[in-house]
Amino acid sequence: MPDRKLVIRNIGLILTGKIEAPVADGDCVVATNGRITAFGQEKDLDTEGATHVVDAMGVTLAPGLIDSHVHPVVGDYTPRQQQLHWIDSTLNGGVTTMISAGEVHMPGRPKDIVGLKAMAIFAQRAYDNFRPSGVKVLAGAPVIEHGMEEHDFKELAEAGVKFLGEVGLGSVKDGKTARQMVEWARKYGIQSTIHTGGPSIPGSGLIDADMVLETGTDVVGHINGGHSALPDDQIVCLCENCGKGLEIVHNGNERAAVLTLNTARELGKLDQIILGTDGPAGSGVQPLGILRMVAMLSAFGNVDAATAFCFATGNTARQRDLDVGILEPGWAADFVLMDQAQHAPGKSILESVELGNLPGVGMTIIDGEVRSLRSRNTPPATRLPSVADLSPMGS
Ligand SMILES: [Zn+2]
Repeated sequence: MPDRKLVIRNIGLILTGKIEAPVADGDCVVATNGRITAFGQEKDLDTEGATHVVDAMGVTLAPGLIDSHVHPVVGDYTPRQQQLHWIDSTLNGGVTTMISAGEVHMPGRPKDIVGLKAMAIFAQRAYDNFRPSGVKVLAGAPVIEHGMEEHDFKELAEAGVKFLGEVGLGSVKDGKTARQMVEWARKYGIQSTIHTGGPSIPGSGLIDADMVLETGTDVVGHINGGHSALPDDQIVCLCENCGKGLEIVHNGNERAAVLTLNTARELGKLDQIILGTDGPAGSGVQPLGILRMVAMLSAFGNVDAATAFCFATGNTARQRDLDVGILEPGWAADFVLMDQAQHAPGKSILESVELGNLPGVGMTIIDGEVRSLRSRNTPPATRLPSVADLSPMGS
């Protein structure tokens, strides 16, 4: 098979996803066979032999956005709100990777151990085999239940499971048991997250800061509540005492989100801030949820927009150990191309986001392939990228 070489030229602004250097010089990105190979000034790059060319028309390129917290069930359907194509709709909001925090909305979800393991392995396989509209859905996140033993986590890991569902959504509600299971999971390379805050829907429970700290998950799931947030002093305590992912979600408390961000900034921990939607949920599906979080946190949290985009890209990639979300040779060629929305105030796309406005998405690319054009969901972008026709004249 000949190499598939993508050249994206005429980029106006390159965002890297790297919080230590969120903006890169250059106007061009090259990817071969779905992986980034180079970026910078087009005149300095090897663009010979391109099989696909995108003319960015001066818009901004960023790594595809990552939603750190979703609850998928099957394909592009969610029974939670009886909605079809919510993942495709979210791709139109610039999200190219989603991480399951548990397939908890499966009707009749098994809670016996063999059943919950089977469902997790099934979900991991199903989304690995089928990407709705090209979106990478990292699913198969079992919810821990009493009676699980070390060998269960070993078996799950060997079968390809990489994430636990939110601790606290199952029968394990005490820190001691949860900590043991999280440690078993970690021993076999499975990451963990926890439901932080009050109950989300009838049947779920309260997880306070003491339980979060005792359990010691890799991510503090929805630190701003899902939806009911912990009291301020507990949120500050979690920011002070957790050295890993501090996840802010759209379906949480916005005031608690800003408190988390301000506290993390004061502590020099902005690299730990990651974003999710927590959708589908009682509050619905949010195709623009991640962009809305970027704009809201930038506007109210005194963070420049280029840095805020890192919360939804490189920060999540690093906390979650993913090969997406960072503009670097070797990383997946997953991008969102966007521009200042038509008639949005601000002198640039970044300033318009800092004023709380959403950018207009013009294109998404996953593994070097164009997956969507002008977003049907964002406000219209001022300029739109286009796919160049490489066919020879007259053919
Ligand atoms: Zn939750």
